[in-house]
Amino acid sequence: MSLQEPVVFPSSQNLPPSDHVAVWQRCLEYIRSDVSSLSYKTWFQPIVPLKLEGSNLTIKVPSQFFYDWLEGHYSSLLRSALIASLGEGAKLFYSIASEEAQNLLVEAADQNGPDGVEFSSPPAVPTPATPFSARMSGRLATVQSNLNPRYTFDNFIKGDSNQLARAASMAVANNPGGTSFNPLVIYGGTGLGKTHLMHALGNHALQSGKATRAVYVSSEKFTIDFVEAIQADKVNEFSLFYRSVDLLIVDDIQFFAGKEKTQDNFFHTFNTLYQLGKQIVLSSDVPPKELKGLDDRLISRFQCGLTADIQPPDLETRIAILRKKSDENNLDLPSDVLEFIAANVTSNIRELEGCLISLFARASLENREINIGLAKDVLRVVVNELKSPVSIEHIQRTVCEFYGLPEDLLRAKTRKQEVVTARQVAMFLAKQLTNSSLKTIGLHFGGRDHSTVIHACQAVEDRVTTDLVFRQNVEQLQRHLQLNHS
Ligand code: ADP
Ligand code: MG
Repeated sequence: MSLQEPVVFPSSQNLPPSDHVAVWQRCLEYIRSDVSSLSYKTWFQPIVPLKLEGSNLTIKVPSQFFYDWLEGHYSSLLRSALIASLGEGAKLFYSIASEEAQNLLVEAADQNGPDGVEFSSPPAVPTPATPFSARMSGRLATVQSNLNPRYTFDNFIKGDSNQLARAASMAVANNPGGTSFNPLVIYGGTGLGKTHLMHALGNHALQSGKATRAVYVSSEKFTIDFVEAIQADKVNEFSLFYRSVDLLIVDDIQFFAGKEKTQDNFFHTFNTLYQLGKQIVLSSDVPPKELKGLDDRLISRFQCGLTADIQPPDLETRIAILRKKSDENNLDLPSDVLEFIAANVTSNIRELEGCLISLFARASLENREINIGLAKDVLRVVVNELKSPVSIEHIQRTVCEFYGLPEDLLRAKTRKQEVVTARQVAMFLAKQLTNSSLKTIGLHFGGRDHSTVIHACQAVEDRVTTDLVFRQNVEQLQRHLQLNHS
């Protein structure tokens, strides 16, 4: 994709020199008369005018999200305000605060809206190599990394659910090719942070100079490029490009399934890099050994380093993520609303972000105060239906059905292994999914002590880390209960 032209208004008119603050002030006055006071406060007050060069005004916005929102909802208003303030011919440029470290500047979209707007490239280096332009001789050119500077370790919230994957990524970023984590495979469900973490790894390795030729590519893009390379008779260039990097990051390798020729090329790339001591980082939605449609020799290669999972985040992590996202966007979210969202959107961080954005969108468009009432309205739409808490009785019933045991055994004294397992799982789920105290949970299980509940939760938490089948069972039960509560 190419960089979009900035907004250019039809005919330029000469204006007396004016300072950026005054120009922006005039824009604000114009805008203020057109939008609700909440929208004004949320979307326009945080903007800082940066500079005026001729009739080019640059404004600073707090984040990419902010920019997207402005361009998506207010681009024509901004355009009219700019004309009113500067006259025709004015151009608007955005500087995104969170991208500033990378010196990125985004230009306003054209009349057709924000589609296709891209970051301008980092300061010009001789054209970076792509899979179609790698050269055999001479000094290796820099490569186009495809890394998104927005994803960093700093804005990746640490939690129990991602602890191993995050720690391993940091270790690899600090010493690519030099740890035993090669390849590093990160796996987990959708929207849990795999892509974020891989970009963070690549960005860190590049910025700290630990890697100079880092490339991020999705397996789909790798496949498409490979097919194109075959058609253009450029397989050599393609292979050379990927075999000459020192950090290769391939996202979502499950999409290699069934693509035999691509897998074959990737297998050789993998071996070359591995033998040269270069770092390979991969992500997948399942552990490597469960990948379907992939050659066994590839799967066995994937397993020779470290495989680290990312699990759905727990409540504390969800709260921390929401807090971080709202801070990043200079959005002020009451903590009860924040906790409410975190308690109700449990499975996926992308969904969590979606709720936050919808909440601010609704508040600003409908001029409503952000409170629990509004959050409920938003969640009803986003998560279909607001979940009422699961009852302990329902958990006991569901777990017993799952294990094929009569319910009263959960309350009985028996210490038969299968009963103990079911009882511990039910206690664990009661702690996870209800607001009941440990004492109350204990009472529902034949008047057991709260320390027994703690012990049960610990036992389940320990076992899920080592016993995959057990973990899948617990997760399945949890999902089922969350969807079918009563
Ligand atoms: P995946 O690749 O696993 O599907 P992504 O990496 O695309 O997930 O993450 C989805 C969204 O959630 C992204 O916007 C990402 O920044 C955010 N996200 C995921 N995990 C975290 C985290 N631990 N801290 C902050 N943001 C996160
Ligand atoms: Mg991803």
